[in-house]
Amino acid sequence: MHRLLLLMTTTTYRAGAFLEAASRLGVPVVVGSDHPQVLAAANPGGNLAVNFLVPEDGTRTIVEFAKEYPIRAVLAADDDGVILAAMASAALGLPHNAAEAVSAARNKHRMRELLAEAGIPSPAFRRVAIDENPEVIARNVTYPCVLKPLCLSGSRGVIRADDPAEFAAAFTRVVAILRRPEVAAQAGQLAEWILIEDFVPGAEVAVEGLVSDGSLRVLTIFDKPDPLDGPFFEETIYVTPSRLSMATQERIFACTADALKALGLQNGPVHAELRVNERGAWIIEIAPRSIGGLCSRTLRFGDGVSLEELILRHALGLQVESFERERHAAGVMMIPIPRAGILREVRGRQEAEQIPGVEEIRLTIPPGQELVPVPDGTRYLGFIFARGETPERVEASLREAHRRLIVFITPPGDIPTDAHSLSSAEVEGAALAEGKRTRHRPALLAGGSRRS
Ligand code: ADP
Ligand code: CA
Repeated sequence: MHRLLLLMTTTTYRAGAFLEAASRLGVPVVVGSDHPQVLAAANPGGNLAVNFLVPEDGTRTIVEFAKEYPIRAVLAADDDGVILAAMASAALGLPHNAAEAVSAARNKHRMRELLAEAGIPSPAFRRVAIDENPEVIARNVTYPCVLKPLCLSGSRGVIRADDPAEFAAAFTRVVAILRRPEVAAQAGQLAEWILIEDFVPGAEVAVEGLVSDGSLRVLTIFDKPDPLDGPFFEETIYVTPSRLSMATQERIFACTADALKALGLQNGPVHAELRVNERGAWIIEIAPRSIGGLCSRTLRFGDGVSLEELILRHALGLQVESFERERHAAGVMMIPIPRAGILREVRGRQEAEQIPGVEEIRLTIPPGQELVPVPDGTRYLGFIFARGETPERVEASLREAHRRLIVFITPPGDIPTDAHSLSSAEVEGAALAEGKRTRHRPALLAGGSRRS
C-alpha cells in the first residue's frame, strides 16, 4: 500500500485539501501532528504524535512507526513540518530535500547568504540582534529598508522604514512580536535576530512549482495586483495567469530555478515570491512547500485535478496526466482585516457571492473572535474565490465582491449585547459602505473601504 505520512500542525488551513486529495487517490494517510488528539476525529484511521520542534526526535518516532506500517512518502502540509519531512524522508530512504537546504529556506538570513554567494540578485541585507540599540543601527542603514523576523510567515513583523525614526519604531515593534512567548517558543534562536534588507521596488508575483531531482516545473505564476509598498505587507489578491510579458515570466522562472539550486532544494513543491523591476527579477522568498491558506483552491490541472493531488501523485511516484492549469483565469482575495477589535458580523456575503465570476466566499474567523491586522496578526478574515475569461475580469470580480462585504468590528472589551448597539453599528457600517469615510476611524468599517 502507498501509505502517506502527512505532517501538519493543528493550525493549518491546508489539512482538508490534502486529506481530500489522498482520499480521492485511495491512499491511506497517517497524520503526523504535534497535537494528534485534536485531529483524531478528522482522521480516525491513522494518527501519530511527532515532535516538530526537535526533528531528530520526530524522525526517530517516524522510523519506528514505519517498521510496522511502511511509509511511501512523507509530506508537510505547510512550513512547520518541512524540516521534519526532509529528515524523516532521508531516514526512510525516500526522495527528499537535504535537511540543510530546507533549514536554509526556513531562515531568511541563511537564505540571503546562500543567494548572495551564488550571485543571484539580492537586496543588500544584514542581521541585527534584537537587544541592539535601534537608534545606533538606524544611522547605518540604507533607506528605504525592510525589517523582518527570520522565520515567521504571512508578513508577520515585516515592516518598511523610510528614515531613522521609522526604523527605530519598526524595530521596537518587531522585537515585541519576537518576544511573544508563543513566537519565541516556536522560533527558538531565530527569534533573537532581525533581518534588515534594502527595499526592492516593483511588481510582486508568487510562483508555484514542483521540483523533481533538482529540475523545476513551474505550475503557475500569480500576479499580486495590489501594490505592496508598505509600511506593512498584507497579502490580498492573487490572480493567474500572470499578465507580465513572456520575457519577464521567463526571467522569473530562471531566477526561481537558480535560487533553488543555490539553496539545494531538489524535490517536492516550491512556493516562491519575487519582485520584478527594470533591473530584473529578485527573490523575496522561496519555500519548500505549496501555496498557503486556502489559495490553492484557485488551481485546477488537466480535467480538474487539485494542486494537492498533483503534489501527492508526485510524492508517491504516481502518474500525472497533466501539469497544465485549466484554461480559465482564476484568483483569490485574502480578505484583509480592516482594523483591530472583536469581529461581530460580516454582512453582504450572499450579495457578494452573486457577483459574476465569484465562486465562493469563505469566512475563516468566527464572530466573537479577536481580529489582529498585520504586522501583528497571522490570519485573514477569509477568502474570496473567482474564475473568469481573463485575469482582469477575475480581479474585478474579487474587488466587487469585497466591496459588498460589510465588516462589523467593535473595540476589544466592548461587548454589545443589546439591539441598540447593533443598530448604531449598522448605521455606521452602511455609511462607510457608501464611501462616506470619516477622518477618525469609527469602530466599524466596511470591508471594501480599505483599498479601492
Ligand atoms: P513572510 O515569510 O512573512 O511572508 P517575506 O519575506 O515573504 O515574509 O515578506 C513579506 C512581504 O513583504 C513580501 O511578500 C513583500 O511584499 C514584502 N517584502 C519583504 N522583503 C522585501 C524587500 N526586501 N523589498 C520589498 N518588499 C519586501
Ligand atoms: Ca512570503
